This record gives sequence, structure tokens and C-alpha cells, in this order.
Amino acid sequence: MKYCIGVDLGGTNIAVGLIDLDGRRILHKKSVKTRAPRPCEEISSDIKAVCLDLCQMEGISLSDVLWIGIATPGIVRAGVVISAVNLGWSDEPFGEILSRITGRPTFVANDANAAAYAEAKWGCGVGEDSLIAITLGTGIGGGIILDGKIWEGFNGFAAELGHMVIAVDGRHCACGLRGCFEAYCSATALVHETRRMMKLYPDSLMWEIAGGDITRIDGRTAFKANSRGDFAAHQVIEDFVNYLAIGIANIINIFQPSVVCLGGGISGQGEELMRPLRERLRYTSFGTKDMRTRVEAAVYKNDAGIIGAGLLGIMED
Ligand SMILES: [Zn+2]
Repeated sequence: MKYCIGVDLGGTNIAVGLIDLDGRRILHKKSVKTRAPRPCEEISSDIKAVCLDLCQMEGISLSDVLWIGIATPGIVRAGVVISAVNLGWSDEPFGEILSRITGRPTFVANDANAAAYAEAKWGCGVGEDSLIAITLGTGIGGGIILDGKIWEGFNGFAAELGHMVIAVDGRHCACGLRGCFEAYCSATALVHETRRMMKLYPDSLMWEIAGGDITRIDGRTAFKANSRGDFAAHQVIEDFVNYLAIGIANIINIFQPSVVCLGGGISGQGEELMRPLRERLRYTSFGTKDMRTRVEAAVYKNDAGIIGAGLLGIMED
């Protein structure tokens, strides 16, 4: 069997998976606490210990593992973590350090980029050369895969899709600018708009769905009420989809990727979201009748980091 290991390093947990490359699956998984901020050497030693555990579960030794890939938060360029605030790292040669400690070749990528790579290789972009991933969460994360490789930008700062400005002098964004994509289309923005409309429409079904408690709403509340014909919820969803289509059309018109992959909890709405979105994109994005970017929901949820990290070794071939 061909083995590799994928490490999803987060601010809270380090999740590690032993991957069967031919079978396209995670064989064993284990997670330990990150206890950040800590020096890169310490975290690398912990990662090695988990790798050894996973190898033992499979009855192999670490030298049977072709490589170790890491998905890390922060800015990454060519194996170096240029900056990762929650880990307390700057200019950390993570790849080099982990390789020295484990004795295996290592590859490092930003976590959003690694997740995009998982989708490009084994997820909704399988068989395609280009995929742009957009994750609608607290903010909006992004990953750009072009010609089968992650595009980091010359300085590691590429794919900040959430801070593409879609409205001049628009809503305030957490980054300090105004009118950013994520100020309109993150889960946070959707919840904010849901609340605003509930206050304007005391008779809205959204109140019933929230059990009369405005703090008990989430990204699904407006979708649920909309599917039952609620006017205020329909406004929320229509606005949300309009803005989402603007952002995605910009991305399509620049890159013409084979696939745009939508991730995050909201993508779980499925056709309820995808149908109106695709409809809008037909008018706002370029492409021919038979050659249009596919817009798909992400295949991977929690394992995208581990799998994308594990597959980084393929990219380097
Ligand atoms: Zn912003």
C-alpha cells in the first residue's frame, strides 16, 4: 500500500490521519491538543509522536510513509510559515523542522489552500485542473488551484477572496475596509441580516422557527422560512444569493476555473442555494453554452485539511 500522512494543525487541535493513497481514504485518525502558542520544534515533536501511533495502528513503520503534509493556519510560502498569529510563529521553516525531526519529506500549505487542494484532487474537482474554493464561515476563506497546483502568490498572500470588494462604500468588514465579499456572504453576515429583517418584520415565520428568541438563529433560519414562503426570509435569501453571485462571477470571469467549490455550513443548503445561484451566474459570468464553470458544494467537511495536507506530496511530483 502507498501511505502518506496528513496533518491538520489548528489553533486548538492537531488532527493527524494516515492515508491510503490508492484507496483514497483515511485509514486511522488521531487528534491531540495544540496548546498554542508553542515553539515549532515542540509542536513538530508532538506531530511525530502521533504519526508513530498511527503507524503502529497499521503495523507499519514511519519509514513506510512516503511523506508528511501539513495544513497550517497563517501565511505560507514555499514551506515557510511567514506568519501565524494564533500559533505565535513568524518566518518559521516548519517543513524543514518537521522533516529533520521525522526523517520524512514534508510539505506545508495554508489550511484553506490545503482544503481546496483536497476538493481539487479527490472532491468535487476530481479529474479537473483548476478549482477555486470559497468557504462561507465566520469569514470567507479561499483557495486557488491552477494547473493542478496551489497558487500562493509571490508572497503567500493569495486567495483572500473574502476581501474582494463587491460594493463601493459598502458594509464595514472585520479587516477595516468596506464592501468586502465576506461582509455580505459569510455565515456571520447572513445571521446579521436575518436578525435585522426579523426586527423589521415581527410577523415573519423566522420568529416562529427561532422559538421567539432572536439569539437562537443561525445560517439556516432564513432558508427554512423561505422554503415556507415567508416574505422577509425571501428578501434575506435573495440579497444573499445576489451578493454571492457577484463575488463568484468576479472569480469566474478572472480565472475561468473548471469548478467553483462552495464550502462551509451554508453550502449544506444544497439545491435551495445552488439553484438560484446558478441561475444568476448564467447572466453574470462569461462562458459558452457547453463550457461553463461548474458550481458545486464541497464534498469534504471535517477531513478536508487532513486529506489536502496528505495530498501535497502529489503536487510536488
Ligand atoms: Zn475585508
